[in-house]
Amino acid sequence: MSVEIVPTRNELDAAWGAMHPAHCKNCRAGFLVPSHAGAPVCPNCLAARLEPLPALQADAPPELVIPFGVSDATLDANLERWLRAIPFKPASLSAKALRANLARIFLPLYLADARAFGTWQAQMGFDYLVASSEERFDGNGWVTQRLNETRVRWEPRAGELARKYENTPAPALEQHARWMLALGASNWREPPFDTSRAISFASEALNNAIVRVPDVAPNAAWQFAREQIERRAARECETASNAQHHEQFVLRAAYGEPHWTLLLLPTYVSSYIGDDGKWIPVRVNGQSGFVSGVKRASLKRAQRWAIVIGIIAFAAFMLTVLLGMAGALNDAFVFPALLVLVVTFFLCLAAPAPLIITWQFNRQNADDVRTTDAKRMSG
Ligand SMILES: [Zn+2]
Repeated sequence: MSVEIVPTRNELDAAWGAMHPAHCKNCRAGFLVPSHAGAPVCPNCLAARLEPLPALQADAPPELVIPFGVSDATLDANLERWLRAIPFKPASLSAKALRANLARIFLPLYLADARAFGTWQAQMGFDYLVASSEERFDGNGWVTQRLNETRVRWEPRAGELARKYENTPAPALEQHARWMLALGASNWREPPFDTSRAISFASEALNNAIVRVPDVAPNAAWQFAREQIERRAARECETASNAQHHEQFVLRAAYGEPHWTLLLLPTYVSSYIGDDGKWIPVRVNGQSGFVSGVKRASLKRAQRWAIVIGIIAFAAFMLTVLLGMAGALNDAFVFPALLVLVVTFFLCLAAPAPLIITWQFNRQNADDVRTTDAKRMSG
């Protein structure tokens, strides 16, 4: 994002098309919203409506945009698959309702191009095969078994490096890591998008989607970009050394002034209402169709089922009593009375099942989200 020349308001308007600046008072996220969209719910926190602002700090138009690339059929199928396993779904949780609530949001990402000059040193690891034999007693006698084992030989290596690194992704949002994981990244440092599919930005490419503006400046993202470049350099030096592993890679490099490109990533945000009346977000990667969100079963709905089964159990019990009294007068009623008694017994066992299933599902999913998030954020 080269901003040596500050664009005028008119130039910005021309670049963005009919978009107006807005922000969320709850989470402080800034957006550009299509003029006719009114005051949409904040797609970031879902807890407030966006309010118009006179201007935003970071409103420079992007250079690149990745278009939405998920067909309606794929989107439907992926949403359906995502919610299939949820028992006792809240009333607002269906593929159709999620589709109706779907908003299209572009998220910002920086790409840095920079030259690196310097020296490196590392321990490089080379795989080699060791043939060994093992003596084993098989009951009749000793047999020799040959084994091939891969071991790693470590050797110090050093060299010089002068190279240009292009399109290194760097966060433009404080919540970058959380978003990348939600959109399908297995490692938050690698955005789950094919950035080679990006096209030059034109306001028509937005097609009435909401645009999230960066809340991290390029110079603040540089530290991250530099670490990414160092990782790439380490892998390249490993390949150049014909090694299969590396350790203790140190790069002493000077970097040329980085060139920044702002790229927009396509995402969908939808939501459903939990038992507590709060909206729960469901996020979809607008390029791959990957769906994620917290899965919540409705305890209210499970309660209704438990009550219905309880009422049927009570009715069955009353029938047992009636048949039992009739059985005292006529033997023909004894067998039906016993049969209904057995049914009553199983209904009594089944009545609390919806509550137990829901409680277990919600607890398991809350744990899953916390532990996998923590693991992937540190990884
Ligand atoms: Zn918000």
